[in-house]
Amino acid sequence: STPPAAQHPLALFGVEELLTDDEREIRDTVRAFVADRVRPQLAEWYEAGHVPARELAVELGKLGVLGMHLTGYGCAGTNAVSYGLACAELEAADSGLRSLVSVQGSLAMYAIHAFGSEAQKQRWLPELAAGRAIGCFGLTEPDFGSNPGGMRTRARRDGDDWVLSGSKMWITNGTVADVAVVWARTDDGVRGFLVPAGTPGFTATEITRKLSLRASVTAELAFDDVRLPAEAMLPDARGLRAPLSCLDEARFGIVFGATGAARDCLETTIAWAVDRQAFDRPVAGFQLTQQKLVDMTLELGKATLLALHLGRRKDAGSLRSEQISLGKLNNVREALTIARECRTILAAAGITLDFSPLRHANNLESVLTYEGTSEVHTLVLGQALTGVPAFR
Ligand code: FAD
Repeated sequence: STPPAAQHPLALFGVEELLTDDEREIRDTVRAFVADRVRPQLAEWYEAGHVPARELAVELGKLGVLGMHLTGYGCAGTNAVSYGLACAELEAADSGLRSLVSVQGSLAMYAIHAFGSEAQKQRWLPELAAGRAIGCFGLTEPDFGSNPGGMRTRARRDGDDWVLSGSKMWITNGTVADVAVVWARTDDGVRGFLVPAGTPGFTATEITRKLSLRASVTAELAFDDVRLPAEAMLPDARGLRAPLSCLDEARFGIVFGATGAARDCLETTIAWAVDRQAFDRPVAGFQLTQQKLVDMTLELGKATLLALHLGRRKDAGSLRSEQISLGKLNNVREALTIARECRTILAAAGITLDFSPLRHANNLESVLTYEGTSEVHTLVLGQALTGVPAFR
């Protein structure tokens, strides 16, 4: 008798039925773009440690994914679940691609959309949505990552102008950005500034020799008495809460994105294991392999359902910050475990760029760390559970 047809891991969970027609269409459009325009060149970009960010941004703009969950100013105005599904498709290709889109839409554009003046919105959002301009978001500093409240970058008043000095570290899109959203300490607390590329005293230097997120631009930004007009400040961003709210937006994309990376690992590995023979039988036919595949499928399915649950809450306006921590911590951690486990099934074949799991695993090391480390999200949840903060 013929064995029953194999099912996709997520089909086992019936995830498809939880999406609307519009959501499925957006997901499928992004999936087709990634298959056509990104996947064929990905290994090359990763190996070279170089990604054609400008060309990609224009294509992503045409696709409509840049700031897609924002409304007005040329943004698509989709629901949060659709944005999440797009992030999953982008990250199924590579976390670097999703990072480009997250930083552009959820950090730079969101900051301008939420806290900018009308003139700032008009000036930047349509260009950023179209991908004709690229944005970056500078919060982390060489000595302050998990604790951005310690930042040393300062903006002081000089007449009507501001003078910005300090540095930012690990800034995605830094050297390709046309505008940097920079957070700095002022006499009035932490404020945000829009610093166009080319402003005298502002330099961006690419960070090289990365073993993770090689298909993404990462940079150090330096501000040497950068003079900015009064209008450079984001008028409605007051205190650290403003940049932290941007991070919540980007983390939401990661909750979905990580499931995309994990799904790609599992799809790749199942296809390979069915084909590959050892001891005269398919590797997929060994019970030890099946145990790994089943355990990974359980975690992928649970992570996907969690992402969808949080997405529905976001669309209902009831998503809380600590719930985003829950999703980020769980989904990135499980995606990383899945990527590594898939590599063990692929064995030697898994160590080159011919297969995605080790590339995803290396990328997910960064994803585990940025947008709040797994330790910091654990502390957020520890505090939520006990009411006792354990940060210091
Ligand atoms: P540290 O804060 O020095 O932490 C070191 C270790 O101590 C970690 O394990 C941490 O979890 C742990 N730790 C710290 N505090 C505590 C505590 N209270 N309790 C327990 N453990 C603790 N930043 C931006 O602003 N913009 C970007 O675009 C951006 N892009 C990035 C891209 C990449 C590829 C990477 C790797 C990072 C990026 N970051 C960006 C920076 C990122 O957000 C920081 O790296 C992150 O916040 C951690 O900071 P840190 O590396 O300085 O580690």
